[in-house]
Amino acid sequence: MSDCLFCKICEGKIPAAITYRDEEVVAFKDIGPKAPFHQLVIPIRHIASLVETKPEDAALLGKLMLVASKLAAEAGFAASGFRVVANAGPDAGQSVPHVHLHALAGRSLGWPPG
Ligand code: AMP
Ligand code: ZN
Repeated sequence: MSDCLFCKICEGKIPAAITYRDEEVVAFKDIGPKAPFHQLVIPIRHIASLVETKPEDAALLGKLMLVASKLAAEAGFAASGFRVVANAGPDAGQSVPHVHLHALAGRSLGWPPG
């Protein structure tokens, strides 16, 4: 989608610290990290929100989770732990309308979330 920030990152039109890429998924460091480790994992295909996902997106959504977990584990957080979060809609604070998982680690993460 031409005016989507995360689509532009996938297309290389906006720079990002890319940590993973395959034919369906891109991951990159969050520009405003909320924890010592904070990466975003996104589908290359533009999907505005989890609300818009369909049953046929199940494998893609699962892959996002697998990539988030792999990146956190490879960064050394398999034992200490990490959190994977997706914000959907205004009450959750979704600010970029392109589906993304946050992978967070490196500090004790409060629960319940704010
Ligand atoms: P959310 O608020 O759940 O929609 O998450 C959007 C995330 O995107 C926030 O954590 C932002 O810090 C992050 N973000 C916004 N712009 C960029 C960018 N250009 N590169 C990397 N992360 C970004
Ligand atoms: Zn997009």
